[in-house]
Amino acid sequence: MAAAKQVIVIGAGIIGASIAWHLTKAGAQVTVIADSTPGGVATPNSFAWINASWGNPEIYFRLRSRAMVEWRRLADELPGLPLAWCGGLCWDLPADRLEAYAAEHSSWGYGIERVGRERAAHIEPSLVEPPEFAVYVADEGVAEPVAAAKTLLADAERHGVRLIASTVSALAITNGSVTGVDTSHGLIAADEVVIAAGVGAPAIAATAGIKLPIETPPGLIVHSRPYKKLLNGLVHAERLHMRQTAEGRIIAGSDFAGGDPGMDAEATARALFAVTKAALLGAEGLELDFHTIGYRPNPIDGFPIIGRAEGMDGLYIAVMHSGITLAPAVGLFATREILDGERDPLLSPYGLSRFAQ
Ligand SMILES: Cc1cc2nc3c(=O)[nH]c(=O)nc-3n(C[C@H](O)[C@H](O)[C@H](O)COP(=O)(O)OP(=O)(O)OC[C@H]3O[C@@H](n4cnc5c(N)ncnc54)[C@H](O)[C@@H]3O)c2cc1C
Repeated sequence: MAAAKQVIVIGAGIIGASIAWHLTKAGAQVTVIADSTPGGVATPNSFAWINASWGNPEIYFRLRSRAMVEWRRLADELPGLPLAWCGGLCWDLPADRLEAYAAEHSSWGYGIERVGRERAAHIEPSLVEPPEFAVYVADEGVAEPVAAAKTLLADAERHGVRLIASTVSALAITNGSVTGVDTSHGLIAADEVVIAAGVGAPAIAATAGIKLPIETPPGLIVHSRPYKKLLNGLVHAERLHMRQTAEGRIIAGSDFAGGDPGMDAEATARALFAVTKAALLGAEGLELDFHTIGYRPNPIDGFPIIGRAEGMDGLYIAVMHSGITLAPAVGLFATREILDGERDPLLSPYGLSRFAQ
């Protein structure tokens, strides 16, 4: 019997956790190295909406839709994953563009319902001003992102994954192939290294002469103290995206990807929270607890980088925004590619080589 492939995954956010989990379930011997606590860096600051919503070409819609299916598969395989298929009510576009989105995505098979004021008020009874026209997607959901990453990592550990708290300073390269990593704990060898290091990925890749074109815009999200149930699902109004977490906190951004913190993040958070509170009936006692500023690992064209780095054996890269939506599909597809050499056709646009052109 061939020895199990030894794989190092750099990163313990949702992407590293999912890749490590899928790899170990498929028989690889996996070591996760991260300089954060399990749960990652961008992941804890995420709005964590799972969706294939507007603004993307069909080919990316297909990957995102598949990822939504893969979340359900993962939840069956790993009961206890903190997911809620709570549905999303959206009217953050002018009516004509909202209608165009509804028509386009319906034709692609996205389960869109056009709703008027009465139905919107039925879906979210706590809205002060239910929209005249919105779209509702019952299949959209959320993951509680840190708990999801921790659940994956804890189960992966039960299946033999080793977790090391350390900083990777460089990739170790022998004869043009990556053969391990240099860490604050010394050199660790492997057959394959996966960079799932979010905003830390470019610095690691650079040690092998690989440029990852990533920008890291900040995104501010406000978090209330836990409160009685006000929201059933995701609400995407113009410049106000909000949901209620499993803990009962209302979290909101001027966009789901977080708003610009501006020069004075405290003031931005207070102003956003006031808007959030004013949008909800029964929110008189709602209090701001804290705000987060997360930095999004965003490839410059907005699409994920998933795959091998050309010309460098032993290295796989997985860096993206929308990592919460994509995590289960990325874990599954990366595992197949790393262990069996099969690249899923849904990943074909997302190689690093596209930036060379
Ligand atoms: C405000 C905001 C809102 C968002 N909203 C959504 C949303 O609604 N839906 C959605 O799908 N996505 C959303 N995203 C994006 C999503 O959160 C990210 O794509 C995802 O969390 C990235 O996960 P990751 O595991 O790649 O990175 P991270 O969670 O950042 O984890 C990176 C890991 O790499 C480790 N690492 C980095 N460098 C090193 C090193 N040199 N040595 C050792 N370890 C290292 C870190 O310690 C960490 O463990 C949002 C992001 C933000 C910031």
